[in-house]
Amino acid sequence: MSNSVPKLFGTLVFNDKVMKERLPKETYKALRHAVESGTALGIETANVIANAMKDWAIEKGATHYTHWFQPMTGITAEKHDGFLTPIGEGEVIMNFSGKELIKGEPDASSFPSGGIRATFEARGYTAWDPSSYAFIKNGALCIPTAFMSYTGEVLDKKTPLLRSMNVLGKQAARVLKLFGKNVAVNTTVGPEQEYFLIDRDMYLKRSDLMITGRTLLGARPPKGQELEDHYFGNIKPRVMAFMQDLDRELWKFGIYAKTRHNEVAPAQHELAPVFASVNIATDHNQLTMEIMKKVAEEHGLHCLLHEKPFAGVNGSGKHNNWSMSTSEGENLLSPGKNPENNLQFLLFLTAVIEAVDKHQDLLRLSVASAGNDHRLGANEAPPAIISIFLGDELTSILENIECGKPYCKKGGVKFTTGVDSIPLFTQDTTDRNRTSPFAFTGNKFEFRMLGSAVNISCPNVMINTAVAEALDSFAGKLEKSTDFEADVLKLIKTSYAKHKRIVFNGNNYSKEWEEEAAARGLLNLKSTPDALIRYDSEENVKMFEKFKIYTAAEIRAREEILLENYSKVLNIEALTMIDMVNKQILPAVYAFSSDLAEGVARKGACGVKAHAELDLLKKISALTDSAYDAAGKLSDTVIEAKGITDFKESAFFYRDNVLPAMQELRMSCDALETMTDRDYWPIPTYCDLLFY
Ligand code: ADP
Ligand code: MG
Repeated sequence: MSNSVPKLFGTLVFNDKVMKERLPKETYKALRHAVESGTALGIETANVIANAMKDWAIEKGATHYTHWFQPMTGITAEKHDGFLTPIGEGEVIMNFSGKELIKGEPDASSFPSGGIRATFEARGYTAWDPSSYAFIKNGALCIPTAFMSYTGEVLDKKTPLLRSMNVLGKQAARVLKLFGKNVAVNTTVGPEQEYFLIDRDMYLKRSDLMITGRTLLGARPPKGQELEDHYFGNIKPRVMAFMQDLDRELWKFGIYAKTRHNEVAPAQHELAPVFASVNIATDHNQLTMEIMKKVAEEHGLHCLLHEKPFAGVNGSGKHNNWSMSTSEGENLLSPGKNPENNLQFLLFLTAVIEAVDKHQDLLRLSVASAGNDHRLGANEAPPAIISIFLGDELTSILENIECGKPYCKKGGVKFTTGVDSIPLFTQDTTDRNRTSPFAFTGNKFEFRMLGSAVNISCPNVMINTAVAEALDSFAGKLEKSTDFEADVLKLIKTSYAKHKRIVFNGNNYSKEWEEEAAARGLLNLKSTPDALIRYDSEENVKMFEKFKIYTAAEIRAREEILLENYSKVLNIEALTMIDMVNKQILPAVYAFSSDLAEGVARKGACGVKAHAELDLLKKISALTDSAYDAAGKLSDTVIEAKGITDFKESAFFYRDNVLPAMQELRMSCDALETMTDRDYWPIPTYCDLLFY
């Protein structure tokens, strides 16, 4: 295969270029029309596309096809079917029909449905999303699809995302029409992905990493990230080899991997792609996570995507850069060069502010998971409080519009508050507030609360729908306007005044902010259960039903699935911990302390006082007793948790009882680690894992 990047790029993708080459003109046109208008594809067209896809895939060595979908488990799912079709005596042909391309019927009864399918038929179907290209992975043609139950309930993460894109596109276009523009609008997203790389042999020696993705035990290493020498630091040759291979793999899938660097914590790195339309960005991010794991393995490494693999060391997140862009290529969050565009920009900016303030809970719950709970609010990621960073300049423009005063740009140049009052913006890189959960960064918003493992679909469904709701209300008012510019300003003024409590440019990590946010009436949903139980609030249900993103039943199903998942994760963690402590940690310290005791006795027989050994022996014995008791207590707590049938009650019980019991057990074990002879300690330490 060629080494040149442009030649390599997209070689595994049935992309626009390939379609143009391989499809009859009419078919290609029909497909483009279906994608652009969001309408269904005729079966004849589908047959022609399927056949061309199959021929292309077979040339590339594929033998199977699969509908590649994103169920509520958070990972992607696939079930492979062969192209081969028997014809007569022992002969086969390779076949793939339009029907098979458009619709698949996996036996999907084992995917979580939050009780939806139990009451209907336990089957679902998948439907091709022609706006995301098919690709080849592991010898199979993968067809990006949506996943639904037979009665139409949505069971996946892709369908609501596609719906929310449409809804936002429609409302944004409505507003732009009032500005004299006839365009379509798309959501653009660029997710920055953080991850840890550790040695695979070390990884295989720790069942907590293998089963739960994070270390449940482990004393802090003498050196963490305090020297800040890892961030943007030199990349080790072994890691560099991985990164180079990873980039090449991603490029083959048409993924615009662009930036790679070391992150804050030791062994932590980041990859950022160039932004794309949100459904493609989502598919690509899911693929990226999968390919990262695979390439790491080939390099004798293991890629950890957990939000908090190591206590006391920065965890991993995902920054979701979000904007809206028109079919003419105009970024609606770019302040622009022409004053008349600035008024438009301010209106869209205000819509985002209103949306985020009104639906803080949805944004917060879209990133809620047991793993992410370890990061949010722990001085390494934004707190659990949602707020927006606008920067001084934009804030003072909006403040001035609110009180009807002229805006005074720094340096004394005066502007009036009219349309021509908005100064030119240049993308600002110095004025960045790294502590803000939702920051305006020049021409886009960066939502920084996402955990590294999350599927970015859900957070974008929330942003898209909430902004669509605000734009819908704006358009409704402005369509009746007789003095457009004056009414736009009035609208910005009223909306900003009502929602400006969400704007905060200061340090989000400070204790004072938590107090101020409470005084402002902002939500502070500290844990996953706190956030998730707000999913089905009256306001949220109303919005989702109005825009046909989810039905009330689907929302309740999602809430149930996610709360259950939280309990399950904690249950698995607790059981893994108990197992490690009983079978590895305690036996190791029994052996060490018994040898110590023997040493003390032997020295004593010689008339020598073994002061050090005796002292250590006493300390270790006391801690061993604590660990033993704490493990017993954790076991009892887990058994009690298992007995709770209500999913909400169960989630809160795990949070309030199981988590603290795990913490207590960990404290004794980590203290024991610091006192136990290295040769006796049965699992790799933080030093072994982080510094290789
Ligand atoms: P950082 O936040 O680390 O400084 P960059 O400035 O390199 O990162 O950009 C972060 C991400 O923002 C990239 O994935 C980039 O493609 C994306 N991005 C840039 N413009 C837009 C946009 N208009 N819409 C969505 N994402 C964008
Ligand atoms: Mg960033």
